[in-house]
Amino acid sequence: MKTDDIFRMTEDQLFKELDTSIKGISKEEAKKRLEKYGYNEIKEVKKTSMFSRFIANFTHLLAILLWIASILSFVGGMPQLGWAIILVIIVNALFSFWQEFKAEQATESLKKMLPSYVKVIRDGQQEQILARELVPGDVIYLEEGDHVPADARLIEAFEMRTINAALTGESEPVRRTSDVVLDDDVSLIQAPNLVFMGTNVASGSGTAVVYATGMNTQFGKIASLTQTISAEQSPLQKQLTRVAKVIAYLSLVMGVFFFLLGLLMGRSLVDTFMFAIGIITANVPEGLLPTVTLALAMGVQRMAKRHALVKKLSSVETLGGATVICTDKTGTLTQNEMTVREIWTKVAYYNVSGVGYEPKGDFYVDDQKVDVKNLPNELSLLLKIGLLCNNSRLVRPTDENPSWGIIGDPTEGSLVVLAEKAGFTLEEMLREYPRISQLPFDSRRKRMTSIHKYGKEIYVFTKGAPKETLSVCNYILSDDGIKKLEQSDIDDIVKQNDKFAESGLRVLAMAYKKIDNEIKEYSIENVENDLIFVGLVAMMDPPRPEVELAVKQAHKAGIKIIMITGDYGLTAESIARRIGIVKGPRPRIITGNELDKMSDEDLKKELKNKEIIFARVAPEHKMKVVAALKDMGEVVAVTGDGVNDSPALKKADIGIAMGKSGTDVAREVATMVLTDDNFASIVNAIEEGRAVYDNVRKFITYIFAHLTPEAIPYILFSLFNIPVPITVMQILAIDLGTETLPALALGVEPPEPGVMDRPPRSPKEKLLNLSLFLRGYVLLGIISSIAVLSGYFWVLYSGGWHWGMTLPLSDPLARKAATMSFLGIVIMQVANVFACRTEVASMFSVSFFKNRLLNIGVVFELVLTALLIYVPFLQKIFDTYPVPFKNWLFYVAFMPLLIGAEEIRKYILRRKIASNQKEVKGSI
Ligand code: ATP
Repeated sequence: MKTDDIFRMTEDQLFKELDTSIKGISKEEAKKRLEKYGYNEIKEVKKTSMFSRFIANFTHLLAILLWIASILSFVGGMPQLGWAIILVIIVNALFSFWQEFKAEQATESLKKMLPSYVKVIRDGQQEQILARELVPGDVIYLEEGDHVPADARLIEAFEMRTINAALTGESEPVRRTSDVVLDDDVSLIQAPNLVFMGTNVASGSGTAVVYATGMNTQFGKIASLTQTISAEQSPLQKQLTRVAKVIAYLSLVMGVFFFLLGLLMGRSLVDTFMFAIGIITANVPEGLLPTVTLALAMGVQRMAKRHALVKKLSSVETLGGATVICTDKTGTLTQNEMTVREIWTKVAYYNVSGVGYEPKGDFYVDDQKVDVKNLPNELSLLLKIGLLCNNSRLVRPTDENPSWGIIGDPTEGSLVVLAEKAGFTLEEMLREYPRISQLPFDSRRKRMTSIHKYGKEIYVFTKGAPKETLSVCNYILSDDGIKKLEQSDIDDIVKQNDKFAESGLRVLAMAYKKIDNEIKEYSIENVENDLIFVGLVAMMDPPRPEVELAVKQAHKAGIKIIMITGDYGLTAESIARRIGIVKGPRPRIITGNELDKMSDEDLKKELKNKEIIFARVAPEHKMKVVAALKDMGEVVAVTGDGVNDSPALKKADIGIAMGKSGTDVAREVATMVLTDDNFASIVNAIEEGRAVYDNVRKFITYIFAHLTPEAIPYILFSLFNIPVPITVMQILAIDLGTETLPALALGVEPPEPGVMDRPPRSPKEKLLNLSLFLRGYVLLGIISSIAVLSGYFWVLYSGGWHWGMTLPLSDPLARKAATMSFLGIVIMQVANVFACRTEVASMFSVSFFKNRLLNIGVVFELVLTALLIYVPFLQKIFDTYPVPFKNWLFYVAFMPLLIGAEEIRKYILRRKIASNQKEVKGSI
């Protein structure tokens, strides 16, 4: 195909070259071309090879530390320990690799959950298809916020601008036209009548013919050069990398300390050295980071199941700390399934029946059905304006999808349905009134206009927000025909608008005029003035049923909800009241105009209001609110769907885009995408975010808790003449064997009850804080130590040992006592893992069977321990002794002590949270 000078071709040449027409290609032809050209996809360049990623697990800092330890063991004449450490390195590397792999798989599978769609004309009908199925020759329709899905030549463009940054680096939107390029100096990439894959439509709309797809596009050509994966670490991961290093150094210090202490107390060099190496090896937290990554990835997967796709692992933890949600109204809090209910004109007031998008329903005036064959003049005109000043399409039911639907903006869709209820169809109407231009809707102007031919005459049809439309009207259609718009008319219209708004209805105004045939440039200034006001259309957009509960949950969780909407204040307030965002008699409603005049300081003061709504705002205002909130130290989640929402989405801690109704651009900059556009999913995601953060704390607590019962006996051993309380190999078996699965399982705990009853954590809170250390090392650690030492001395004394008697490890009694300590740590860790399942709630409030992996982990832990104790070959390696079953039961008696102490701690914590909440409530 000759595409080099595609921008110089006339429309006819273009159609001929690409073997297509204004009606697009046929479905069969599309299939054939798909086979020929392949999917419209950018092929990913192979990332770092699996092998080198696997090897990386052997060469990071902590692994190197272990290698050194193993070499020292060999040099020091302890090959058994040396081999054990190598085994540890291998097991750890395999484990980490598997975790990373699973985490990656989890995030990769999410990508597939958010396919990109495109509006295409095939067989003369507009339909929506997957962007990857696009082929050369397809005629596509592009509008504000769309991602350009392939390289295409424009054949029609209305006020269209694209952002070509991905291709040219230029971030300012550039103007696009459909004119043939005659200038010789223009290159393909500069041609204003071409749109390229990877760029976005910043404003306006247009129709284009695809000439290159997939790797044949300009973007495809450069993508293969520039594709890189940026594996950005989350703050949590960064914090943990630091913590892991600190712990590694600490264990180094501890190792040296025990070494010196042992020597000082006259222990043999070999014994103390071996123990020091063991302590270091056991405590180097090499598994910490991959476990956190996996916990985050699992969180991401759970969120996806609850309709929130998180694009960066790091957002999971940020989400958990959200303190404010700034949300749109339409589509997020409401269903975005509009149905026109009432129509007001200066002549009459109409009610409209029917539900959803099915074009079935009647018009009534004072309960009298209107005969649609004999429509009153002003109603007929109003319906035509709504139908023609419109870019949506009604989708008829099919066998696959038996319900009526729309393609495009639901506000506009409802107007198509309305017109069809009176028997008008878009095709017929466009035949009578062909469209010659349009001034697309934008959320600043809050209006849309389309320009049509009618015979030799030219008409302008405008619809938009009532006050914004009224401001460009000078006439009104009344009983006596067209008359000058008086103040009394304006008062009537505003009064009626407020009435509609107070009952939560969304209102649009319709206006029109005939214009001079001489006008050639249809700009906003030339066209949107001196209009004739026709009437108001009020549509219902019911709140989503699940939102009310979600709002309640968010409030309970101490999260403030601020509605920021383009809609009218009274409509916004009415909806906010219905779903419980507003409860007080007088919420503060700030309009975009007011906000413009407000200083940042004043805005911050206003934001302290408990109930606040921003109405009739433009997207830029959202940015101002988000910036002020962030300045106040809040962690802000904000929703957005349009191109102009991008700065606010970027600025916020969590930018949330809509998967269904939002634009591609918003989805691209957002950190989270809601696949169901539903506010309730944000609250669910916050719950999951909190759970992930808690889980990481849970498994770190669990891991920390075994260090104390390992260290205390050994300190006693160093200081007093007692038999070896636990051997290095046994410690390694615990830390790197029995512990692993239960720790991992804590990372995937579902959210604990009451996780949304607490206030958000402070953004300054550190993951590893004093309370975590105290809980792990002190509370849980000391109780375990008491149990372990009791078991150890019980075995010794009942075996005939007395204080001061020297007993080498070769003595069966010494081995039996050491095995008892080993068994004690394992069994106390079983109690510990159940205690760690919750941080605040009672352990008994979560179902025992909910975390399957945890139960499997515990069984694995116990079976492995039994093997280590009873299999003769393992007994030799681990210096274990086959203790009788009653010794196991000995520790079971200690389990309630640990669990009871934890339950008391949790109870006190719950009381504290509840009284804090009361205080907070009282202060508002
Ligand atoms: P939210 O910001 O909560 O999503 P919204 O949809 O009302 O609410 P915008 O899309 O900015 O916000 O719309 C602002 C106003 O412009 C609407 O309240 C409506 O009056 C008007 N409007 C919306 N869509 C159209 C359209 N397609 N054509 C003309 N006017 C429209």
